[in-house]
Amino acid sequence: MNMIESTASNTAQTASLSDLQLRLQQQKSAFASAPMPSLKERLNRLNRLHNALLTYREQIHKAIDQDFAGRAVAETEMAEIIPLLEGIAYYRKRLKRFMRPQRRHAPLTVAPAKAEVHYQPLGVVGIVTPWNFPFFLALSPLIGALAAGNRAMIKASEFAPASGDLMRKMLAESFSEDEVMVSTGGVEVASEFTALPFDHLVFTGSTQVGKIVMRAAAENLTPVTLELGGKSPAIIHNDFPIDEAARRLAFGKCMNAGQICVSPDYVLCPRDKVHEFSSIFIDAVEQAYPTLKDNPDYTAIISDRQKSRLERYLNDARAKGAQLMTADAADEDLSKSRKLPMTLVLNATDNMMVMQEEIFGPILPVIPYDSLEEAIQLVNSKPRPLALYYFDWNQGRANTILATTHSGGVCINDSLSHVPADDLPFGGIGPSGMGHYHGEEGFRTFSKAKGVIRKGKINTAAMVAPPWDNRMFKGLMWFMKFRFRPVKVD
Ligand code: NAD
Repeated sequence: MNMIESTASNTAQTASLSDLQLRLQQQKSAFASAPMPSLKERLNRLNRLHNALLTYREQIHKAIDQDFAGRAVAETEMAEIIPLLEGIAYYRKRLKRFMRPQRRHAPLTVAPAKAEVHYQPLGVVGIVTPWNFPFFLALSPLIGALAAGNRAMIKASEFAPASGDLMRKMLAESFSEDEVMVSTGGVEVASEFTALPFDHLVFTGSTQVGKIVMRAAAENLTPVTLELGGKSPAIIHNDFPIDEAARRLAFGKCMNAGQICVSPDYVLCPRDKVHEFSSIFIDAVEQAYPTLKDNPDYTAIISDRQKSRLERYLNDARAKGAQLMTADAADEDLSKSRKLPMTLVLNATDNMMVMQEEIFGPILPVIPYDSLEEAIQLVNSKPRPLALYYFDWNQGRANTILATTHSGGVCINDSLSHVPADDLPFGGIGPSGMGHYHGEEGFRTFSKAKGVIRKGKINTAAMVAPPWDNRMFKGLMWFMKFRFRPVKVD
């Protein structure tokens, strides 16, 4: 093919690419021309994001409030803007150390040599986000991806359109399209997006869609980090003050009206304390939210569809014999609003939807148990959750819980607070996800750990090289026999 034909063919190929494919191609070629951004360049990108968040702070409050038809500004601050700013500050302080190549052990068989690990940016990271924290769950992976020197494309959730539009505007002002871009749209866009050959794909969403996304990524052998959902249990030990447990759990469960992937999904409570727990929990919620309908502190449900889903769970539980306790002090008519009162479900059984599906809303089944072993067994009989909460002052018993249960993360004597702890890895296990981001693990997730051996002028290979009956090789074999002798197995 001559040059004219080749250019024509390239143009034809480009013309047949979709908009998303073109944007990925642009980002990939921009990355190829600058594949190892310096510390200064990475900090520059993070600082641009920091400033954008400050500039758009109030607009972010408004956009999320619009999407939810009522989202507490305090929650947007505490669960979106502040953790993002903290996340940037975290990397600003540590990035230089994370970027540094690490010295590793070089075995005798390659000596003399230096062994190193170099952390190299992957290229372009795709980020698919859910609606419940539309800024935090898009920009938190972005911070890790940028810190590690990558470029990124974000697919915002179609169920938080005002947030998606604002994020696109905000990032377009701070980044060139070949650095960071935001795409909005429904399932068709999401399907096309997840089929793109990214260098890494972070998906945050439901376990069900996670499987579809992983299948699409497999076609390109794109590595995935899956941040999924599940039923996160809270276990209260008999010795823990029940009023304290009820108040701490009420605070965590009410955040975003329970629409959080790590929201306590059900509580395992000592049998004789269920009544006390429930009445203190309801009191605590009613004190925090004396009214619901027009109370800007109490977050609404994102859509009518989600509200109907939650009401279906409650009707199903009621029909199957559960007792419902509702925190609705003002007894308002909420039928025309998207607010749903916090509701405890007592006498919940395994055949109820509240014990089968992830709740993701202001509903909390309280399950009685008789012994800690029984509580552990119950947790372990279910799919591995994203979070586990254990309330007990006794460190030894808390360590037993840590050693005998599996979950993405754990809070002891609290809920949710492991998420904004930047220095901890965040991610699920099995059906609640795979891979980690946040902190050092986030930096490593978005980097290729490249093993490098550096050889010097002395070439020992030449001394032991075939023919294999040479004296050096024989000597080496003799030494290895001496070095690796049978060991005692206890
Ligand atoms: P979802 O799975 O319905 O949607 C998430 C994203 O996937 C959206 O952007 C959507 O457009 C996209 N999507 C939908 N269908 C797709 C398809 N066929 N192919 C590719 N992409 C597709 O989740 P949601 O309702 O937005 O969020 C709620 C779920 O997310 C809950 O299960 C919750 O636990 C989970 N979640 C997890 C975390 C975490 O960090 N682990 C955080 C928040 C939410």
